[in-house]
Amino acid sequence: MMDKNVRICIVGGGPAGLSAGMYLEKKGYENYSILERLDRVGGKCWSPTYNGRRYEMGAIMGVPSYYAVHDVEEFCGITHDGPKLNRNYKNKEGKIIEPFEPKKNILKIPRLLKMKKQVKKLGELLETKYKGYDVNGHRGVSEGRYDGFSQANAKREPVKGENPNLKDLCLPFKEFCKLNGVELTQDIWIGPYTSFGYGYFDEIPAAYVLKYLDFQTTMNFVKVNLWTWKNGTQYIWEQLNDHLKHPARLNSKIEKVERKDGKVYVTVNGKVEEYDKIIVTAPLYIPNKRADGQVGMVDYFDAREDEKELFSKIDYERYDVLAVETKPEDHPEISYYVFENMQKERLGHLMVYYRRWKDTKDQVITTYALRKHKDTAEIPYDECKKMVLDDLKVMKNPASNVVNEWSVYYFPHVFSEDYAAGWYEKVEAMQDKYDTFYAGEIMSFGDMDETAEYSRELVERFF
Ligand SMILES: Cc1cc2nc3c(=O)[nH]c(=O)nc-3n(C[C@H](O)[C@H](O)[C@H](O)COP(=O)(O)OP(=O)(O)OC[C@H]3O[C@@H](n4cnc5c(N)ncnc54)[C@H](O)[C@@H]3O)c2cc1C
Repeated sequence: MMDKNVRICIVGGGPAGLSAGMYLEKKGYENYSILERLDRVGGKCWSPTYNGRRYEMGAIMGVPSYYAVHDVEEFCGITHDGPKLNRNYKNKEGKIIEPFEPKKNILKIPRLLKMKKQVKKLGELLETKYKGYDVNGHRGVSEGRYDGFSQANAKREPVKGENPNLKDLCLPFKEFCKLNGVELTQDIWIGPYTSFGYGYFDEIPAAYVLKYLDFQTTMNFVKVNLWTWKNGTQYIWEQLNDHLKHPARLNSKIEKVERKDGKVYVTVNGKVEEYDKIIVTAPLYIPNKRADGQVGMVDYFDAREDEKELFSKIDYERYDVLAVETKPEDHPEISYYVFENMQKERLGHLMVYYRRWKDTKDQVITTYALRKHKDTAEIPYDECKKMVLDDLKVMKNPASNVVNEWSVYYFPHVFSEDYAAGWYEKVEAMQDKYDTFYAGEIMSFGDMDETAEYSRELVERFF
């Protein structure tokens, strides 16, 4: 255990950084500072206001097993009080379809029955052959071990064990399904995976897919047993920030971080501050120049060779969100998923659009598209935007105006080769090596609960 007076700098005021502050405080560490580069907290939980209501440019929903988010709700005395989610499906020509309804798909009944069997089989395999698959974080997976905190219930007890089968999780999810004879399960998993911007099943290691969409979570998506927040997901983190002893310091521009002689010197807005430890929840590495000016940690830290080498393997998704107005007569009835556009051959097309408020037509709807696959060139931003707006016309819900847009640094991850070569083992072994801890999305998964949960674990393990 560390000295309770240790001076801790936390980089980033998103779910990971703010919850790190909360868990540190709960454990009696009060000497921390959260530095946030923007003029708001919440990071990718961004809920602007339109016509008096908040809509979602970033995170939208949770499931009942969001235990860390629940900790935050309890800490702040708030709850998930948002509009119920609803959805339907369209084909790429804009026709409403019901892909999972046997009566509407007489010819597909054998496939649907087979799929149902495979879903059951995958559920059983995950419990047995892949025991330990669903702990938070990735420690040990590439070595056939599990080592973390169980997410099976709210207690989240530490669990540890050997399971050589877990090495299969390094494979892209498509191959993992083939190996286990459960290919058709992808028809179910794809909805809350690819359309939520987390990439394609032929490129993303199964570990990411299944740690986020563990069996229980997937069933919650199927049954639409989901949480939303009336004032948006950003409200969760604004509330947390208000309840912390040391709220995030907004508009903090970190110019330099130097780690020497057991101290961490952070130059922020022109002044040098001294700390003992630093927790980085902001991006570690960004492979290209971004219009929003965000850079990776390796660009402003005195990055060491092992940090540079490992973090240069990180890629991220190009995931674009538009908030659009429609004429009342063009407003969608409900939210729609377009499965045919979740294939890499349809990169850049509209995959899902979200109508948040059922009781009024004077609110925006939001659209979602991916524009990069591992093996293809990136579709330029404006081209993708045009494709999405054209798709809305095909869907018969044309936009009259775009009111907000965001191309976000999304879901940092490594690919199968690096995952299997022990990327996580190496980075986990580096925790605290340079008085630095690495947290946030890359260390667990790009959703608000997994990142907050990872911060909880980090505090449990090291503080
Ligand atoms: C469109 C969209 C839909 C999503 N849907 C869901 C959903 O339904 N459910 C769900 O659970 N999750 C969802 N997510 C993902 C979720 O929002 C993120 O996984 C979560 O916010 C990650 O938290 P984080 O703190 O690790 O990173 P972030 O939220 O990215 O926060 C990082 C913070 O660090 C700051 N920062 C960056 N660089 C620096 C620097 N140099 N100095 C100081 N600060 C810096 C950033 O400004 C930001 O505030 C969605 C995200 C998007 C974009």
